[in-house]
Amino acid sequence: MAGSLPTAVELTRRLIRFNTINPPGAEEAAAHHLGELLAAGGFAVSYHEFAPQRTSLIARRAGSDEAGAPLCFTGHLDTVPLGAAPWSVDPFAGEIADGKLFGRGASDTKSGVAAFVAAALQAGKEAARGPGLVLAITAGEETGCQGAFHLAQSAAGLLGPAGLLVVAEPTSNYPLLGHKGALWLHALSRGVTAHGSMPERGVNAVYKMARILAKLESWRFPETPHPVMGRSTLNVGTVAGGMNINSVPDRAEITIDIRTIAGSDHARLRALLTAQLAPELDELETVLDLGSVWTDPGRGASSEIFAALEPLLKERLEPRAAPYFTDAAALHLALGGVPTVILGPGEPDLAHQTGEFCRVAKIEQAVELYRALIRRAGALQG
Ligand SMILES: [Zn+2]
Repeated sequence: MAGSLPTAVELTRRLIRFNTINPPGAEEAAAHHLGELLAAGGFAVSYHEFAPQRTSLIARRAGSDEAGAPLCFTGHLDTVPLGAAPWSVDPFAGEIADGKLFGRGASDTKSGVAAFVAAALQAGKEAARGPGLVLAITAGEETGCQGAFHLAQSAAGLLGPAGLLVVAEPTSNYPLLGHKGALWLHALSRGVTAHGSMPERGVNAVYKMARILAKLESWRFPETPHPVMGRSTLNVGTVAGGMNINSVPDRAEITIDIRTIAGSDHARLRALLTAQLAPELDELETVLDLGSVWTDPGRGASSEIFAALEPLLKERLEPRAAPYFTDAAALHLALGGVPTVILGPGEPDLAHQTGEFCRVAKIEQAVELYRALIRRAGALQG
């Protein structure tokens, strides 16, 4: 069996050759490719579709009951589109040049998925002596974690509980102890339309929205900064309003992207915004509400993770967090509020970029890091 196992680098190349650009996603073929490998390696595999061809998979390998709850790895199969700029390499070939493996998804997160699948297959009986392994490989992450939410709702019994969740998003192999939450809002102001030559007969919704925008630009979050995540942030992503040049606009709308630190209460924040933006605000709708994920550095799991990884990374690790969100926002509660680390071989700066690549050496190192976590899985809990 061992001789026939693909290396993580080979497996990354195979995954890149499946076009899983989302939309439309179509992760099914890639999911089945991994599922067949894992089933041959002794894993119990189940497939979970949230829509036709939108396939996530869960692969489990039982461990010893006395060793605690299983170690869970997660990563996603879908990628973002190629973008408007031309690629100098084939984005679906998985070419290697100068120690870099090129392709859409090379960093985000096909290399990470390939590395933990390879580590899980290599671990073999070692994993069975520990608390066991659960691999949750998702579809539809890039458009709002649909696959992970579907797993959390429909397959929570297959997923959890787990002792530790490892998210294979690109961190250049530096372990992050969590990430910010996200609260996305759609705000609307209404007016009364009139002919553009008689504006005094109307109420201009764009002027109302301009007053909202001024308040948002100088918005201050009434919270104590988080020691690692810093402050919550707010960005207005889109603005639209009006029908034509010679009418008073009766409608203006914006979208607001708020990224929150651990401990932030989204319901209170939303209520505060509603109060502060009145009377110009007529409607505020929540588009996405994902909590932050944070494993306290004082928790036993964090120091055990650092102790397992420091000898391999050859540096002293410090608590850091990601500003972006991951599937952990959907999965970590289904897994019982499990300690979570984000750790993957991809380059964070290359995610979603033209000419995306992952360093071959980082993919090989990630396999070693994941195997170190698998070896110590029993101690990483709590
Ligand atoms: Zn990603």
